[in-house]
Amino acid sequence: MVNTKIIDGKAIAERIRNEIRDEMDRLPASIKPLKLVAVQAGDDSASSIYTRQQEKLCEKNGIMYELKKFGPDISAERLAGEIEKLNLDDGVTAVILQMPLPAGMDPLALQSAINPLKDAEGVHPANMGRVIYGKPCLAPCTVLAVMEIIYSTGVALEGREVVVVGHSGIVGKPAALLLLDRLATVTVCHVGTSMAGMLESHVRRADILVVAAGKAGLVPGDWVKEGAVVVDVGINRQGDRIVGDVGFETASKRAAYITPVPGGVGPVTTAMLLKNVVEAAKWKIKV
Ligand code: NAD
Repeated sequence: MVNTKIIDGKAIAERIRNEIRDEMDRLPASIKPLKLVAVQAGDDSASSIYTRQQEKLCEKNGIMYELKKFGPDISAERLAGEIEKLNLDDGVTAVILQMPLPAGMDPLALQSAINPLKDAEGVHPANMGRVIYGKPCLAPCTVLAVMEIIYSTGVALEGREVVVVGHSGIVGKPAALLLLDRLATVTVCHVGTSMAGMLESHVRRADILVVAAGKAGLVPGDWVKEGAVVVDVGINRQGDRIVGDVGFETASKRAAYITPVPGGVGPVTTAMLLKNVVEAAKWKIKV
């Protein structure tokens, strides 16, 4: 049996926040104070919980925070106009567009309205494009969290078999690209892989397994290779419990390192949002 280490996402997040505060102290006064503005259209309850979390997090870490909330009947044109005002406002370091948007609005079109250098979540097509070139400016927070978690294990990526389950634009694909840039051999699995009955054979080969499908129990623990690193991005509600995509109980007896859900990727992703705000501030003086 392997001596498994459960990765403490909260501790990694705490370390990152400390690094961010130190970095903020060193920033020139001309780009301070840092300010994150969230734009919310409508009143989705999960989105409102998230904005309150952002506010607390920013307050605790010396970043100003403002929520610009609009009704669900705001037009896409007006919302884009409001985003443009924030792009032009020198006092705004970074912008986050809350999801979901009111029905009928195209998220990508509105995310594209954010200045890529103020794109707190790293979702602008220009930022996604830079990920392809291995020169991210502001990359998606969850993907940055996945990389940070893998680095925290000290396990080398070069030449290793990495399997990413999930190929979404926001998690699976950019994660695969950043992992490729660390010279890992990357296989991306998705719903088609399962339909072909091939998911198990790919997962069993993984030295490093990243699962981001949003399907509880998709990867049974006994598929995990002994000594693997397992990063479970999935968030699934089961009654009053939150679980990941990987069968944790069995997987945690086989993996060398594994993230729990909750308490793994989630807190690190939130810390990466703050890191992106600091990165956005630095871009102000780089360009
Ligand atoms: P998505 O729905 O956009 O994509 C899901 C992916 O999983 C797709 O590529 C799909 O092909 C794949 N998939 C679905 N069913 C599958 C199956 N049976 N077999 C193989 N692949 C399958 O989801 P997303 O936005 O990428 O998010 C994925 C999960 O990660 C969700 O649970 C989400 O809540 C979670 N998430 C967590 C964080 C965090 O900070 N922890 C951040 C973002 C997303």
